[in-house]
Amino acid sequence: MLLEISDITLLYGRIQALHGISLHVDEGEIVAMIGANGAGKSTTMRAVSGLRPVASGSIKFNGEDITRLRADLRVVRGICQSPEGRGLFPGMSVQENLDMGAYTRRDAAGIRTDQDRVFELFPRLAERRKQIGGTLSGGEQQMLAVGRALMSRPKLLLLDEPSMGLAPMLIQQIFNIITEINQQGMTILLVEQNAQQALSRAHRGYVLETGRIVKTGTGADLLHDPVVKEAYLGVA
Ligand code: ATP
Repeated sequence: MLLEISDITLLYGRIQALHGISLHVDEGEIVAMIGANGAGKSTTMRAVSGLRPVASGSIKFNGEDITRLRADLRVVRGICQSPEGRGLFPGMSVQENLDMGAYTRRDAAGIRTDQDRVFELFPRLAERRKQIGGTLSGGEQQMLAVGRALMSRPKLLLLDEPSMGLAPMLIQQIFNIITEINQQGMTILLVEQNAQQALSRAHRGYVLETGRIVKTGTGADLLHDPVVKEAYLGVA
């Protein structure tokens, strides 16, 4: 197991957002979390990346207990989050944003190779490498956020709503890229409103409801589950 979350709870002040979440991600997998608004998907991501402390439970990465480890040290361990709402540096160029993604790295040659790969995956970014991040279209910013995350060469990539705000054609494209980088060896934990796409790309999935996991299975099983279909796929 690359990531193992055991029975975590998390509080925002007096509000309990997670009520004992347990899940795991094996090396090489795409694992999707789906669920309604407010179910706790993003909060679970924040617990993994260390942006919010858990109240109880444990998080292990690569066999190491990281439950209380600082967020920046988790990045060094190989956990990288491409945040919901993108979190780019709006005043910096595309190129500078990508450079920031690689800030923990010292291997100049490897950084260049990965940057070429990002530009290969996203030709649109290559054309716009000097453009200021904040002036990119929503879809282009999303690509840049994913590209920047890839630049840290993570062992585990956390993607929070990568399809948010994208036109249907771009949604397809971003999921194709997710599948492609996974096939090249990257392990991915994904949060998505677009349950159909997420489950059809994921090896396994978890369904969250009000801070709890209510169902888990392979992507295919969940796609065909009558309850999931009705609640999250918009088909009765
Ligand atoms: P969405 O699909 O809408 O992004 P989600 O499943 O990612 O939803 P979370 O963002 O994890 O849900 O929110 C879980 C619960 O925690 C919600 O009830 C939300 O209102 C609450 N919450 C999230 N962030 C905060 C915060 N900073 N302060 C207080 N409550 C918060």
